[in-house]
Amino acid sequence: MDTVFIDGSKGEGGGQILRTSLTLSCITGRSLHIENIRAARRNPGLANQHLICVRAACQICNGQAQGATKGSRILDFQPGPVRSGDYHFDIGSAGSASLVIQTLLPALFLADKTSTVTVTGGTHNPMAPPFDFLDETFLPAIATAGFQGDCKLIKHGFYPAGGGKITFNIQPWQKNKGKIIDLCHTNTELQIHGRIFTAKLPEHVAQRQSKLLLQSDLKIHNVEHIDVKESDGPGNCAMIRICSCERTTVFTAFGKRGKSSEQVISEVTSLAEKILASDTAVDRFLADQLLIYMALTKAGSFTTNELSSHLQTNMEVIKKFLSVDFNVEHQEQAYRIICLSP
Ligand code: ATP
Repeated sequence: MDTVFIDGSKGEGGGQILRTSLTLSCITGRSLHIENIRAARRNPGLANQHLICVRAACQICNGQAQGATKGSRILDFQPGPVRSGDYHFDIGSAGSASLVIQTLLPALFLADKTSTVTVTGGTHNPMAPPFDFLDETFLPAIATAGFQGDCKLIKHGFYPAGGGKITFNIQPWQKNKGKIIDLCHTNTELQIHGRIFTAKLPEHVAQRQSKLLLQSDLKIHNVEHIDVKESDGPGNCAMIRICSCERTTVFTAFGKRGKSSEQVISEVTSLAEKILASDTAVDRFLADQLLIYMALTKAGSFTTNELSSHLQTNMEVIKKFLSVDFNVEHQEQAYRIICLSP
């Protein structure tokens, strides 16, 4: 079987290049040689979080990896056939549980039986999909193409303490139904809700952030406060949920020591304002995460308000493994991404 060569310094130069490559190597059965892993990051090479993704990929397909050590910038991976199963992974730090799931999900959807994956680690981390995003935005979006899964939050894990737990149930892809991702249209009948998570923090943090959300220009319908009692450390996440009868888009921003509530709220409101102003259907995060599923169906399209470097880089990595193409149409602040079978 041939080997796919990936340069991890290209484009975004981050961990997503590795995760996408591992997934597609498992799916196609093609070996992977990746160099310059995470070359554009302050701490290049494999971090704990990425090592778990490599080990998890090995486990679901009985694969072999060389170079899977902390800080390594080169990895060779030889996959075997993907097997469904009941998998458990412990990141052992606040590394994102969602990103381990992101690595495994596409491959396990292609297995012949249902799988469950349980990951212990961070469930609400900056720079990664928070649990609520996976549950309310991501899974319903890919379900439109026959990828049916559901997830459960067992325990919250905030950065930096981690210690959270999520579990996923992944059903075999209903390929023969011919469904595709078609997320191009927006709905004008929207309700916007706020949600503030706090753990081990004084009550006034949530009160202040709730007030700021309600004062924003977004016409937020209501704000719920979830005070997480069972958490290994402190945490704060501000969330905006834009809901229509068809879909929910979840945006998040995270508090940390020394960061004001004004900053946290302005981050999350600006993400929501940008997509609402653009009249597009898919936010910048969901955009890069949909590509693999479109590539597996060799079809589909969506509109988004940003051509992020994650999105462009992921298209290039996918094209190295699968014979698909992506077309990008651009009109002012709107991009239409179309997946084509060449
Ligand atoms: P690093 O490059 O440090 O290894 P990483 O492993 O976290 O970083 P990235 O390449 O930065 O990898 O990819 C992060 C992934 O998390 C992307 O798929 C991105 O869409 C997703 N993501 C980041 N922030 C959010 C968010 N707020 N909501 C949903 N998804 C997010």
